[in-house]
Formats: sequence, C-alpha cells, structure tokens
Amino acid sequence: ADFGFERVALDEKQGRVDSVFHSVARRYDIMNDLMSAGLHRAWKAQLVSMLRPPQNRAFAHLDVAGGTGDVAFRVLAAGGPRTRVTVLDINESMLRVGAERARDRKIDEVGDRIAFVTGNAEALPLPDAAFDAYTIAFGIRNVPRIDAALAEARRVLKPGGRFLCLEFSAVDVPLLDRIYDAYSFNVIPRIGARVAGDAESYRYLVESIRKFPTRGAFAGMIERAGFRHVTDRPLSGGIVAIHSGWKV
Ligand code: SAM
Repeated sequence: ADFGFERVALDEKQGRVDSVFHSVARRYDIMNDLMSAGLHRAWKAQLVSMLRPPQNRAFAHLDVAGGTGDVAFRVLAAGGPRTRVTVLDINESMLRVGAERARDRKIDEVGDRIAFVTGNAEALPLPDAAFDAYTIAFGIRNVPRIDAALAEARRVLKPGGRFLCLEFSAVDVPLLDRIYDAYSFNVIPRIGARVAGDAESYRYLVESIRKFPTRGAFAGMIERAGFRHVTDRPLSGGIVAIHSGWKV
C-alpha cells in the first residue's frame, strides 16, 4: 500500500532542489563555467549539433529545466528564422535570469522567438504533440519522478519528434574516474562554498550525480517511456552522456 511516504520523500527532494537553484540563480552561469572548467559549453554545443535544427522550416523546440536559457540561445543561434524555443523551468529565479539574458541579447526584439514558462517537467503545462524536439540538459537528474518526466516528454512531442537529454553520467576510464571523484567531493563543494556560499547544496548535487541511473539503465527507461531508436553517447570519458530517442 502507498502510505504517502514515497510521495513525501519525492516532494522533499524537489523542495531541496528548488532552494539550491533559487539561491544560486544569479551566479549560476559563472558557477557552471568554474565547476566544469568551461566544458559545459562544449557538451551543450554537441547536444545542439545532434539536434540540428532546420534552416528553412518552422521548428518548435522545448527546452525543459532550461534555467537561464543557455541551451535555448544555442538552439536559436543554430536554427533558421522560424525556430521558436520554449524554455520551461520549475524555478522562477532561474527563468528571470534567462529572460534578462534574452533581453540583453535582443532576442525578444526579433519577435516571439523565445518564451519562458514556469512549470514542472513531471506535468508539463503544454498541449499534446506541439513540439518538434525536446531537450533537457543537466535537468532530469533533479526531477524526482523521472518516468513521469519521460512520459510527458513523449506526450508533448509531435510524431517524428526528437528527445535529447544531456546529463552527468559515470566515468569509466581508469584514473580519470579517481581524478573525477577527488574533484567532485573536494573541489566542487569548495567552489560552492566560496562563490555561492553554500557547500552543502553542492555536496548534494554531487551525490545526485552518483545516484543517477547508469547509461544502459537510463536508456531502458527512455525505451519504456515509448521512445524508439534510443542511443546513448558518452562524452569526455563518460563525465556526461547524451541520450537520444524518437517518438514514432
Ligand atoms: N539546462 C540548464 C543548463 O544546462 O544550464 C539548467 C540546468 S540546472 C543544473 C537544473 C535546472 O533544473 C534548474 O534550473 C532547476 O530549477 C530545474 N528543475 C529542477 N527540477 C525541475 C522540475 N521538476 N521541472 C522543471 N525544471 C526543474
């Protein structure tokens, strides 16, 4: 029987994640650069190059857990003039920073090319079959009910739509795994303490990376959600991976 304990635990997880990103929103982009030594830029570039938004037709893109808009801006830059991106995030502080960045980049002036929507990946406030592609970068690890998020991804995609997920993974290169562990457990919380004044939250994020399913297990979850031609591609020795699937 479900006594609600699991639900409470999952809601607590979301609450914890929300407070991390509320407190870090203003410094999120600089923290990303510092903690990944700029590598997150190359990983996101790889994500967008796998997506390949078209140049000469309409393309409706959804970036979930889109935070400060980093992936969205890259999709807009890579796509044609009829590319539109919806950035969805549960956290208004992150979206506010994203909207300011869009304004600084004069993206709003080009028209309705970008929209910022507050919402939960587990229950998207968006219609069925509305998007050509769905991305989620460094987001799904934070979502308590991954199955629900995958089902929602499939629901909002058009038939023929693409699902792409960039997430931390498991390093399986000898030596690199040891260096990576030392870095994660020592350096990351220290940067968190110095720049964001919050080592505990960053320790929690490092742990959440460890708890995330392996590449094969996560690929299985994507398949069970109904996606086809599911692939996973490790990058940088498996520090991150890009999972891909299609709604047919
Ligand atoms: N995608 C951006 C990037 O790559 O720079 C931001 C990634 S950031 C590490 C994780 C984001 O996931 C945060 O903005 C957080 O608010 C968002 N998030 C956490 N739980 C979520 C949920 N249930 N639904 C939607 N977004 C969520």
